[in-house]
Amino acid sequence: ENLLQNQVAIVTGAGSGIGRAAALKLAQNRAKIALVDLHKENVEEVKNQIEEMGGEALVLEANVSHPEEVENCYKRTIDQWGRLDVVFANAGINGEVAPIEDLEPNEWDLTISNNLTSTFLTVKYAIPYLKTDGGSIIITSSINGNRIYKNIGMSAYSTSKIGQMGFGKMAALELANYGIRVNMICPGAIETNINENTWKENEKLKKVEIPIEYPEGNQPLEHKPGKAEQVADLVLFLASNQSNHITGSEIYIDGAESLL
Ligand code: NAD
Repeated sequence: ENLLQNQVAIVTGAGSGIGRAAALKLAQNRAKIALVDLHKENVEEVKNQIEEMGGEALVLEANVSHPEEVENCYKRTIDQWGRLDVVFANAGINGEVAPIEDLEPNEWDLTISNNLTSTFLTVKYAIPYLKTDGGSIIITSSINGNRIYKNIGMSAYSTSKIGQMGFGKMAALELANYGIRVNMICPGAIETNINENTWKENEKLKKVEIPIEYPEGNQPLEHKPGKAEQVADLVLFLASNQSNHITGSEIYIDGAESLL
């Protein structure tokens, strides 16, 4: 439980689901955590939980698809603790689910900017602070980042997730000389808030004649979705020195869902 002693981590999308579970796991391992999310109240709760464990946390309300807000998150983290070691670029949305012919350009842009541009920004503005001592960047992509796409109506989401994969590999190469590692995690269906409204009756999808796959129960290993805490264990491994020869990798955490 001391894997990240004296280290500082920033977690985006820390108010819910995978980001929240990872923030708690990294804090349990003694990292100080900057908690970034659109929704302040949710991260306040996480901060309280971390402080109850005897840890330290900083609440940063920000939209990570806006450059100046991301830059400011790093400035405030450095002002608070003077260093940065781990970046978990995790915030994301499912976005509008609709057949391509019905997907509005502004809905497309929203998903791409929240999931892909945000990843670029979160990595870009971390570099000046990670350069000195190296560090670990973890990007939450998805099994939708690299498989046959069964979740129809999610063209923007899939594009953003596969985009993160290409970007992350390029970043791993560019940043290797600084001792900065960059890895992608690819969860299958995980029980979080993100899927709450996505798969309900969707009028727009009714006209597409491909059966819609609801991801729940579709994982060979346990016949149910994974848990955010299971993903958090993988994030801890990639954040810590235990993975110090792993970079540019994509790691699936999906109970073999991607093999179906
Ligand atoms: P979640 O909805 O529970 O949490 C996502 C958090 O990100 C929310 O708190 C939200 O407010 C925040 N967020 C979204 N856009 C933001 C922005 N622009 N700026 C700041 N914060 C923002 O969802 P989750 O399942 O924990 O999702 C985390 C990541 O995991 C996402 O990138 C998602 O695509 C990915 N993922 C999830 C699953 C799954 O089944 N849950 C599967 C594969 C990948």
